[in-house]
Amino acid sequence: MYKRILLKLSGESLMGESKYGIDENRIGEYASQIDEIAKLGVQVGIVIGGGNIFRGLKGSERGFDRVKGDQMGMLATVINSLALQSALESIGAKCKVLTAIRMEPIAEFYSKHRAVEALNEGNIVIFSGGTGCPYFTTDTGSALRGIEIEADVMFKGTRVDGIYDSDPEKNPNAQKFDTITYDEIYRKGLKVMDLTATAMCKENRLSIVVFNMDKIGNLKKVILGENIGTKVTL
Ligand code: UDP
Repeated sequence: MYKRILLKLSGESLMGESKYGIDENRIGEYASQIDEIAKLGVQVGIVIGGGNIFRGLKGSERGFDRVKGDQMGMLATVINSLALQSALESIGAKCKVLTAIRMEPIAEFYSKHRAVEALNEGNIVIFSGGTGCPYFTTDTGSALRGIEIEADVMFKGTRVDGIYDSDPEKNPNAQKFDTITYDEIYRKGLKVMDLTATAMCKENRLSIVVFNMDKIGNLKKVILGENIGTKVTL
């Protein structure tokens, strides 16, 4: 079994059936699934996006300064992280939030040392604020944190079952890959993660498993090695 994993959750998935913000039922379901795998003894680091609240690129299309928009996006990931921490603590899980930008007393400032220490103390650790820099995404933040904490693998929880050759929400004949390489993702122009995140994972040999996190129980299945998503390898 894995010793330490990095789980990436998109901000949009926290909306559940709503069009904006955080759905308590969805975040509650995620918290139970995460608590379940932590109890198996796997060390869990988490990166959450902020797309349910604000995305810098969308903001700049509407006339916001891009850097300020990205800062708003990073703050959105902190909001989501605190919501997930609260949901986890309400079911008795031990959870720490670390921020990429200093903002005590909301949460401690990130360092690899603090992150690994908190994981070794039995906490689920949420890395908020992405990379702390504009022009990046939380996919890149999650690649970075995954590599830094020496995670065995990155699990990318989405609302589809894995990586397809075309968008399964638009094309009913879309074919799912069981495994795929980073180079194939690039060559086929598949939108799994942005190029920066994909390149970081490839260069640092971090494999990714993309799976459907919205089906309750799936997180445990992928942790136990069931072949339900798509594995991205070198
Ligand atoms: N963001 C950023 N730097 C980072 C991570 C995120 O500037 O390292 C900003 C960026 O504006 C992004 C927003 O935060 O659009 C929310 O993150 P993301 O779009 O990755 O969230 P997701 O799509 O996973 O919900």
